[in-house]
Order: sequence, then C-alpha cells, then structure tokens
Amino acid sequence: VGEPSDQWREYRGAPTGADLECRGWRQEAALRLLNNNLDPEVAERPEDLVVYGGTGRAARSWDAYDAICAELRELGDAETLLVQSGKPVGRFETHERAPRVLIANSNLVGRWDDWKHFHALEAEGKIMYGQMTAGSWAYIGTQGIVQGTYETLAELSAQHYPETEGLTGKIVVTGGLGGMGGAQPLAVTMNGGVCIAAEVDETRIDRRLETGYCREKTDDLGAAIDAAEAAAEDGEPYSVGVHANAADALEAMLERGFVPDVVTDQTSAHDELEGYYPSGYAVAEADELRETDPETYVAESLETMERHVDAILELQDRGAIAFEYGNNIRGQVADHRNRESVDGGRWPLSGSDPEDRQPFDFPGFVPEYVRPLFCRGKGPFRWVALSGDPADIRRTDEAVLELFPEKDHLRRWIDLARERVEFQGLPARVCWLGYRAGDDADGLTERARFALRINELVAEGEIAAPIVVTRDHLDAGSVASPNRETEAMADGTDAVADWPILNALLNCAAGADIVSVHDGGGVGIGNSLHANNHVVLDGSELAAEKAEAVFTTDPGTGVVRHADAGYDAALEEARESDVHVPMEER
Ligand code: NAD
Repeated sequence: VGEPSDQWREYRGAPTGADLECRGWRQEAALRLLNNNLDPEVAERPEDLVVYGGTGRAARSWDAYDAICAELRELGDAETLLVQSGKPVGRFETHERAPRVLIANSNLVGRWDDWKHFHALEAEGKIMYGQMTAGSWAYIGTQGIVQGTYETLAELSAQHYPETEGLTGKIVVTGGLGGMGGAQPLAVTMNGGVCIAAEVDETRIDRRLETGYCREKTDDLGAAIDAAEAAAEDGEPYSVGVHANAADALEAMLERGFVPDVVTDQTSAHDELEGYYPSGYAVAEADELRETDPETYVAESLETMERHVDAILELQDRGAIAFEYGNNIRGQVADHRNRESVDGGRWPLSGSDPEDRQPFDFPGFVPEYVRPLFCRGKGPFRWVALSGDPADIRRTDEAVLELFPEKDHLRRWIDLARERVEFQGLPARVCWLGYRAGDDADGLTERARFALRINELVAEGEIAAPIVVTRDHLDAGSVASPNRETEAMADGTDAVADWPILNALLNCAAGADIVSVHDGGGVGIGNSLHANNHVVLDGSELAAEKAEAVFTTDPGTGVVRHADAGYDAALEEARESDVHVPMEER
C-alpha cells in the first residue's frame, strides 16, 4: 500500500471543529469519516490502511488515499465522486439531492468471486478488501459493535436463562480480541457475566486492557479458569484475555473437563491467510510463514480451524450453548472438507455418516438471536459528531432518551455506554432502533424521528457541528450472507443477492449522502453482498428531507425482505406500519 502520506501524518485522525476544508458539509463529512477510520485510536493497523476485520481497508493505497482527500476537497455540491475498491475513479455532475460519494468495494463476478482470484488481483493493486464499515468509512472503533454484542448476549440469556439476571454467574468462552472481537469481554460484563477470551496476539489483549474492554490478561489458562469460576460463583462480572491460540485453549479446556456455559468465537476465521493464526506458531513466526510459504500457512490455518470447530462441537455436546459469531468459521471448515466434492456444496456430503458432527451443527447468531429484530426493520445504526466534541454526543444521548422514554432497555444501554464505553476517534454512539415509532409519531419511523430531532438540534445551535448518521452493513434489509445474516431463511433464499443491491439503489433514490456496496464483509470474499449509507444532518431543510426518506426506506427494505420470505413478524410489521408489500394479500 506504499508509505503513509504526509497528509495522514498531519491529521492522525479526523479534522474537527466548525471550519471546513471542503466545499460543503457533505464532502467534509466524507473527508472526516475516512480519516476517522484511520485514526490510530480507531484502526487496528492504520499504517497499512487496515481498519479492522482481517485486512478491511479504508483506501487501496496511500496514493489512492491522497487522491480521495484531494477529490473530496474539490467536490462540488452537485457532484458525485466514484470510489472503486478504495481508489477514486471518476467525478460527475449530478444534482444536490444525489449522493456525494458512491463506493463499490471488493466485488467480483460470481464465477471468479473467491479469495484466490481476489488475492491475485489485490497483489497487483487492482482491488481492495473493504470488509463492512472499513471501506465505506463508517467504522467507529470497537464501540461500534459493543451494543450489537451486548444485545445478542442479552437475547441469548433471555432465551436460555429466563430466571437469571442477564448472564450473572455464567461463563462465556470465546476467541479473538481484535477490532470487533475486542468488544466481547465488555459486552459480557455489561450483561453481568464472566468472559474468558483466547487471543494469540498479546498486543491486542493489551489494547483491550488499556481501553477498559477487558480487565485482566494471563498466559496461564488454568489460572484464568479458576478466576472465572470464582467470579461466576460470586455472581461478579469479570473478564480475562488468555494469551493463547483459541483452538489450543478450547482443547485444553476439554482436557481439564471444564465446560463453559456459552462458547463462541470472533477470530478472523473468514480469511485463512491474513486473518486466522495457525496453532504452533508465535505471531511473528506465523507472519513470516505467511510471507515465505503462503500455501503451508493456509493448510495449517485450515487444519487449526478444523480442530477449533471440533472443540466447539464437543463443548456443545457436553452442555455448552454454542453459536457462531459471524466469522464464517463453520463455512470455512465445511468448504475445506468439501473441496474434493463435485459441487463444493455445504457439508454434509451425501453419503457421509450422519452420526459425524458437522460444522453447521451449531447455529449462527443471526437466526438464533437477531432475525426477530430484522423482521421488524430493527437494526444497529450509529451517529458521529463531526465537531469532535463529546458534548455533542451527550446532547444526542439526551435526545434519544427524550424521544423514547418508554424504552427501558434503550435507557439501560445509553446509561451503560456513557459510563463504560470510551470514545475512540470522533465521538460517536451506536444504538438499535427500528421501524415503527408508535401512534403519536406522525407516521415517522423510529430512526427518522431520531434523525429529524438531531437535525433540529444542529439547526438550533445546540450541537456544534453536523452529525452524520450511518450504520453497519449488518442490518435488516442490506445484506445477503448465507452463513450469517441470511442463514436458514424461511423460504430458502439465503443466497439471493438482489436485496442488498435494491437497498443500495433505494438509498441513492432516497438521497443518502454516501452509499456503498461491498462483497465479502464478515464472512470473506464470495460469501456475502451488502450495502451501507450515510446521511449528514447539517440542520438544513434538505437534510431533513433526505433523513426522513432514507430512514424510512432503508429499514423498510428489512421489513419487505423478511415479509417476502414469509416471516409472520415482518408481515405483521408491514400491516401495522403501512409498508406496502405489493403481492401480499391484505
Ligand atoms: P481482527 O482481524 O481485528 O481481529 C481478529 C483477532 O483474532 C486478532 O486479534 C487475531 O490476533 C486473533 N486471532 C486470529 N486467529 C486466532 C487464533 N487461532 N486464536 C486466537 N486468536 C486468533 O478482526 P475483528 O474486527 O475483531 O473481527 C473478527 C471476526 O468477526 C471477523 O471474521 C469478522 O468478519 C467477524 N465480525 C463479526 C461481527 C458480528 O457482528 N458478529 C461483526 C464484525 C466482524
């Protein structure tokens, strides 16, 4: 990717304050968010342009980064910039309501849509892995995922431990303390539980300790288990990062006869070459092997993943609740085993022994815990204060609580976030809101109602500079990902990828300011297609119009996608919220 540019060295994070470098706030927002993604507090490896999630990048090279910044500074109020896999490739006169930036990252034509072709093109500098929010400039650090992890675990505890207060007294074992995975210990302790997280890279554990996401670290798995059991017995929240390969750690737990209440994983298993670490190597040794002998690296990485999945299945057999946390570790192992098969389809192969435990014998987190929310157009969205002033986010926190006083769960989240979640880079907040806002809401969706109120606060000067509202690609109507967001859809449409394309097109039509479409986020190249949006709330009438349209249509696609698949909750939501589903009998 070349050497970090002088410009980045100068910024070291997003520009802040009320003075503009660009010709308008919409362009300025893009410039600030790109640089926020690369803030050393936010990104995992900013010097390589890597934001999170294996090699999820914000720009293709430092030259491309410089060119994007220059284009954004020149971009007019009625122009649109095209960014193709992290490189600016065109600028056109459009109109004021159109997006200022359109982004497409990592997309390949179906037949070529795999890591092999991707890595070959990447090595020639022709494509970039955008993950989800890395390449669409919507990443806000580990805090961005905390609430999703918190909500998922809260739902898990409500389903499995209805008599318990959250996860109190329960031990969750996981792997990976990277950009997203690092949220796990905090989300577990926020739910009152105990977390043991295996992480092979000690510097990642240190980073989570420094930012308060994890409490302790050790090399000694036995000591970690003892401390976790003692804390669970006392009903005290506790978290510890164990410096170890996750596959080795789970096998050692089985050997000791230790069975946690819950087992999952967030190592970067979606990428066997640049994300996951094989057992038997220190990080530096593995990094060297990757350079000198990538084939051996991949073979050993997949072998370790197989052992890792087998250990999860064995813990499940012994009574742990097991679920995959969106890193495609099941798909990776199934594909690895199936490589010899004719169609490369999902395990089990026809004729294989049904007694054998197979990777997909433990479920993914979406069908288990998140789909009921998606059916109602509910998903995670986030907002960022372009001023850089934490007071602006405090004001938005108050606005959320004023707008939705009846939502106790939301209040608990905002209180916990204020107390426990440190800002990284530009101050930001994440929260889950859905479609319907209730009878007194003038027909506005929850998200639209929130955005319009924030726009008013900007107009009134109560907030110092515009707020950008954006979201994860993981949302109700914006993803096709058969091993994750669309796993086990009721009508079998797991792999139908028209939906995220329609979502992105509709976001453009509704007037979002940045719209992007990516391949491969979360689960790796060829396994997903997904879209994202941004709306800049600068206090203007135009911003209000855009916000109302985008925050109605965007969650609305979640409702129609799930209604189309036949989910009762989505059909009910459509009826109650007047979402028109053309071929549905009313
Ligand atoms: P990351 O690359 O920043 O971090 C991954 C971490 O795993 C690194 O710290 C690495 O050292 C560690 N690791 C790799 N192999 C290991 C092994 N065998 N044992 C122990 N540690 C190992 O990635 P991230 O942003 O934290 O994302 C992690 C995974 O979760 C990715 O696959 C990502 O696509 C997925 N993800 C899930 C969600 C979700 O909502 N559930 C959201 C985003 C990302």
